[in-house]
Amino acid sequence: MRSHRLNFMMGILVILAIGLIESCSQVPITGRTQLHLVPESSLDQMALTEYRSFLSQNKVVPASSPQAEMVQRVGERLAKAITLYLTQHGYGDRVANYHWEFHLVDNKEANAWCMPGGKVVVYTGILPYTRDENGLAVVMGHEIAHAIAQHGAERMSEQLLQQAGGQALAIFMQEKPQATRDAFLQAYDIGTTVGAVLPHSRKQESEADHLGLIFMALAGYDPHAALDFWQRMSQAGTAQIPTFLSDHPSDAQRIANIKKWIPEAMKYYHQRP
Ligand SMILES: [Zn+2]
Repeated sequence: MRSHRLNFMMGILVILAIGLIESCSQVPITGRTQLHLVPESSLDQMALTEYRSFLSQNKVVPASSPQAEMVQRVGERLAKAITLYLTQHGYGDRVANYHWEFHLVDNKEANAWCMPGGKVVVYTGILPYTRDENGLAVVMGHEIAHAIAQHGAERMSEQLLQQAGGQALAIFMQEKPQATRDAFLQAYDIGTTVGAVLPHSRKQESEADHLGLIFMALAGYDPHAALDFWQRMSQAGTAQIPTFLSDHPSDAQRIANIKKWIPEAMKYYHQRP
């Protein structure tokens, strides 16, 4: 009897352990282990719905305008290089279901984001800071890095876990579609008012800076442009700091980190196919 119970308990422990291992994954390049409990398929579906609804409610700059063309061009170049690199290095599953889209919206806020599935939006308000294609590649590389590193899924997993308590996440998501949607919108900073945004963790921000430098280098953009861009953002002062930068590492720390990573990124820049 006792040994049966022991076996039963061991069985449960093994199942729990396997579950935990399966719900963890490794971030490409940095190798950081992360928690990933939200199924990618439901994320892609939610992303697609929210992306369509965002585009229908905002002023999308016509694809024929030079600025929208630039966003498209830089985005495609990044996507191609990133997909090739990830596929060659065993991370192809991270982009297997991506259907990349790049849109510029007419909005004064200095902002940009990338949802799961490769759905990218750049706001016209960031263009004075990016200035040229290299500067734009810094921002788009950084935002795409958040998506590839699945930072939103990580934040959403953490938030839903708190709300679900002991309940299985899959069941919670099915039974509480509104809470799930709210968690998604907050995790991806979309449509939330300032203050309601979940702060990006510093760890995630640094990781997006690091990966973003390598991604832009792989696409043939000189990563040194990141120093110029972040210096311009830093000079813009705190009043200008957009929501996507909330709780970012301090400007000085970020610029110091970028300086440290540039030699590594330059190797990718010179070795790209
Ligand atoms: Zn960021």
